[in-house]
Amino acid sequence: MQKLAPIEEFTEVTPSAAIDRSAHGWRAKCLQRLIRIGLPVPKTVSLPAATVRAIAAGHLVDCKAILSHFGPGALVSVRPSPENPDWGGPATILNVGHNKARHEDLVNRHGQDAADAISLRFIQSYATHVARLDPDMFEAKDPSPDAIREALRVYAIEMDEDFPEDPAQQLAEVLRSMARAWEGTTARLLRQAKGAPDEAPLGLVVQAMAQGMGQGISGSGVIQFVDPVTGLPQVTGRYLGKGQGRDALKASKALYLTRDPRGPSLEDIAPEIFTRLVQDGAACRQKLREEMQIEFTIEDGQLAVLDAVRVQRSARASLRIAVDLAQDGIITPQEAVLRVEPRALSELLHPQVDPRGPRNVVANGIAASPGAATGRIVFSSAAAQASASRGEPCILVRRETAPEDIRGMHSAAAVLTERGGMTSHAAVIARGLGLPCVVGANLRLDLREKRIHMNGQAFGEGDLITVDGTAGQVLAGAAEMLTPALDDHFQTLLGWADQFRDIGIRANADTPADAATARKFAAQGIGLCRTEHMFFEEDRLVVMREMIFADASKDRAAALARLLPMQREDFVQLFEIMAGLPVCIRLFDPPLHEFLPHDREGMRELAEALDKPLSDVTRRVEALAEFNPMLGMRGVRLGVVLPEIYDMQAQAIFEATVEVARRGAAVVPEVMIPLVSAKREVELVKARVDAVAANVKIKAGRDFDYKLGVMVETPRAALRAGEIAQHAAFLSFGTNDLTQMTYGLSRDDAGRFMNTYVQQGVFPEDPFHILDVEGVGELLLIGANRGRKTRADLTLSICGEHGGNPESIAFCRRAGFDYVSCSPYRVPLARLAAAHLALNETSV
Ligand code: PEP
Ligand code: MG
Repeated sequence: MQKLAPIEEFTEVTPSAAIDRSAHGWRAKCLQRLIRIGLPVPKTVSLPAATVRAIAAGHLVDCKAILSHFGPGALVSVRPSPENPDWGGPATILNVGHNKARHEDLVNRHGQDAADAISLRFIQSYATHVARLDPDMFEAKDPSPDAIREALRVYAIEMDEDFPEDPAQQLAEVLRSMARAWEGTTARLLRQAKGAPDEAPLGLVVQAMAQGMGQGISGSGVIQFVDPVTGLPQVTGRYLGKGQGRDALKASKALYLTRDPRGPSLEDIAPEIFTRLVQDGAACRQKLREEMQIEFTIEDGQLAVLDAVRVQRSARASLRIAVDLAQDGIITPQEAVLRVEPRALSELLHPQVDPRGPRNVVANGIAASPGAATGRIVFSSAAAQASASRGEPCILVRRETAPEDIRGMHSAAAVLTERGGMTSHAAVIARGLGLPCVVGANLRLDLREKRIHMNGQAFGEGDLITVDGTAGQVLAGAAEMLTPALDDHFQTLLGWADQFRDIGIRANADTPADAATARKFAAQGIGLCRTEHMFFEEDRLVVMREMIFADASKDRAAALARLLPMQREDFVQLFEIMAGLPVCIRLFDPPLHEFLPHDREGMRELAEALDKPLSDVTRRVEALAEFNPMLGMRGVRLGVVLPEIYDMQAQAIFEATVEVARRGAAVVPEVMIPLVSAKREVELVKARVDAVAANVKIKAGRDFDYKLGVMVETPRAALRAGEIAQHAAFLSFGTNDLTQMTYGLSRDDAGRFMNTYVQQGVFPEDPFHILDVEGVGELLLIGANRGRKTRADLTLSICGEHGGNPESIAFCRRAGFDYVSCSPYRVPLARLAAAHLALNETSV
């Protein structure tokens, strides 16, 4: 390549030098800060991004001038300094300037072995990183004069020239190769995946080598002051006598830093240096406002700090570190909140597979509900319940789950299905229960043989597997686990988040257990209680089926009268747990046939229970069958055609309101009508609900307030929201059905082709997972605007599975929604994400 004119753009890093992060990169800036706070950093020169870019384009930098800063015969290291440490960069090269003369010098000062080690290391790293020769040719050999000769010989043969002896030439080549590596396609793609812009700048830092060799205490190490997995204050790291760079982290003979029963430590052999390092660490934390990992060298008892990087950390460590820094007054609570990534919180709420342990993955699927659990395979709800009653954790494996599996799911430690997507039944219920769940897994289920085939292995009932719902993986056998971390630090951070956010967060909760979880995570109420889930308890299911089989309204009323007290008790419990917080109860939604048995055995049992001929049962089940049940007799359509069901539910809600009020807890229930598509549907239901309320008030001799609202789940309801809002105090967008109907895409079957669709770029993401702001989002905006035009105080919310996603929260917040409602276990994430949105807006 033709060399262009030499340039002289570089700056020595001193306390007052003009070093800014955008020009010189984070590392140069960080080193300057270390120097400013008095840490013993060896002499350092920074090349700004403009210089590095010029070098990549073929300009030469005046390396003699750079080296003159370090004095004659000095060796230097070169490290990358991108603007953001997460953007990576080329590998650090140590000992640049090393040649035969330096080798002799080192032999005289530190002995043959030490000198050989440095020589060989430099030749190897120069050959592979700078000359780009095959690393296999320079495989690590024990340092010796022969090994050095061999390495130099291979270099000369491959490069057709001798290994460069001139330090300035070496440095020029190192700088050129690092500058060009940064421009390479792979490096670009890697950093862009981490959010780097197209033209991300790279600075380079040249630093005098501190050798870690000498007669007195000499070596190198790495120290940090928190545990990277838990974030607990604890000195971790290693020290290697006569070592260089980060060698200590790999070497088996490295020492511990602080006193340790497992072996000798730096604190034992050099207590003053250890104390100084601890002081330096504290100064870094205070002034750099971060937990740093410090790379240091000791040369004849003299400490040098070469570099400091942000401690790598797990999600739980990240939270603990942020809260500790804020509680120590080093950062503000706002900063602490912004330092924790909302999505990472789910790692803290559930047990997780320990990343440090082995992982025997046998199947992959959609990560439908986070957390991990180990258990024995069962193939039916009944087996899951039996297993739970024996106190044995089990994994419920189904082709897909249906409402009758709910009790089995309650009993299981995790759920695994062959079919389904993010909003399939299994996924929604598992998220609500906080159960790890993988759906749409690449396994073959043979229900007759009771076997699962995964990755060429067969697993039978009773075999032990682990479902990792965070990673979407199935592991053979039991995995090592990390326990959840809902400790004081967690509560503190979320308490701060609540002070900063400006959109409400409620939970979708169907059962008292869900409601208790919602309270535990400080949801501001229940945004969706799916009442149908209450009818799957054994005793209720029978009555429910009697109700469905009733031919006459009178018989139906009799069955409903038996359901009424049970339903009332459900609401009493919910209201009590929520202690005055709003509770939004959705009237019955699913097609009735979901409550009927689907196999012959179940139908025979039902015939027995109802004392009817089997043929009656099969005929009724057939009569209720629909070609398209999700678009059939469900939601408000049932309310219009069989109004007694909603009457019973309204009565139960209002009687529970009265009962709870008598005990002293005021509650204003919210009654929500599902699957509306026309104003008249709302008028019909509202007239009856109002009548029931009036009746209950008269009978109880007590007044109460309630709100009636509409769930917007059909495109037509969104389009007609203006007139629907005449009769609704609130609109809650059910984005699961709304997505299904906007795309004309079955939420239960989409999993089969969603991967292909996303891979081929037809959809940017699974719209059942990430809200489609372009299409479904437009309907949300239309509905919200038209609704608010009719009624300025209309409460707006979203309660589909999207409700807990940061992207959906951002959308709803921009659109002026009052709250989002999501699975109880998503509530913490939603609280934190909402705080991020508000804080990022104020800091712009
Ligand atoms: C929805 O459709 O978005 C919703 C919340 O209701 P469900 O998932 O019960 O159909
Ligand atoms: Mg729905």
